[in-house]
Amino acid sequence: MGKRLNWLKRQGLLFWLGLLLLLLAASGCTHAADARNQAAGFTPAGANPASTTPPPTLSPPTATPPASQGKAVYNTPVVSPQPTPTLAATQPPPNTAAPGRAVPSPTAELIPLPGLRPTSDRPPNPTPLPPLPTPYKTYSWTLKVPILMYHYISVPPAGADEYRTDLSVDPVQFRAQMEYLANNGFTTIDLYDLSLAITNKQPLPPKPVILTFDDGYLDIYQNAFPILQEFGLKGTFFIITEFIDNGYPDYMSWAMIEEMAAAGQRMESHSKTHPDLREQTHEYLIWQILGSQQTLAAHIGYTPRYFCYPGGHYDEATIAVLKELDFWGAVTTAGGKWHNFEDRYEWTRLRMRFTTSLPDFITMVEPLE
Ligand SMILES: [Zn+2]
Repeated sequence: MGKRLNWLKRQGLLFWLGLLLLLLAASGCTHAADARNQAAGFTPAGANPASTTPPPTLSPPTATPPASQGKAVYNTPVVSPQPTPTLAATQPPPNTAAPGRAVPSPTAELIPLPGLRPTSDRPPNPTPLPPLPTPYKTYSWTLKVPILMYHYISVPPAGADEYRTDLSVDPVQFRAQMEYLANNGFTTIDLYDLSLAITNKQPLPPKPVILTFDDGYLDIYQNAFPILQEFGLKGTFFIITEFIDNGYPDYMSWAMIEEMAAAGQRMESHSKTHPDLREQTHEYLIWQILGSQQTLAAHIGYTPRYFCYPGGHYDEATIAVLKELDFWGAVTTAGGKWHNFEDRYEWTRLRMRFTTSLPDFITMVEPLE
């Protein structure tokens, strides 16, 4: 009787032991499979989209947050990267002038000389510009160079409002200003010269000045270009490319722009349609900035590296896109004469007005020691 009882007890113990082992084995398999799936980022085929939610083990080890808060925490790591516009934009802007050509080192002869020769026998400059050199060692120059800002070079039409008038300079005044520069030891340089002087310490002439013309109005070709040619001066012209594409009558044509570029004048980007570039999406900024840069490159034979903010409006996102696209710098409508590497996307200018007299002009451009 006692023997049989012991045998039954042993059988019972073995049964429970066996059951325990089975349970342990099953639990171990489940955990191992989970671990494998987690390690491989495995999602079962045919799983519904909800299965892309991170597994519970990735949730923060804090008390259960409100549903919306928890979702935000979950979603952060699985947000997919920005789509195609970013990828397209991180490619260097294509240079339509000389595909496949090796990028030369930055030397002075890359910059065309001012328009000292007739415009018709000069082919467009096909030389691609290199990326902006980084500053020499750990610092760069801060240089005082007046960058003059013009818009219209014409007598304002009858009935012009105060804004239109203020944006205009009488061609007679403009000629007197250019004559003063030519006769008083000034040399017109361009923004490339300024960048290379700041970053590479490329020497500048004794009295450098930069002439900029915003918007690409027709009267620039009619009234400013001949005077610049006459005195051998170089200007930088900020073009709104879609206005030219559309053939708007108050703006230059591509033929005029190409002729001026071939004569050594600089053509740079002023966006496609002149919008306010603050608080815009990345895609929109790429479209406006890269779009105008590529259109200009197709016409002038080099990839322009400078930008002029439409209406002087920009924000950090605008500057970030200019950096992304390898722009060398940008000009604002704020006043000032000092420029350096750190503020290269916010270079200041001096506004030329209808009321700017020749003595005013001289005060603006003459370096006062
Ligand atoms: Zn403008």
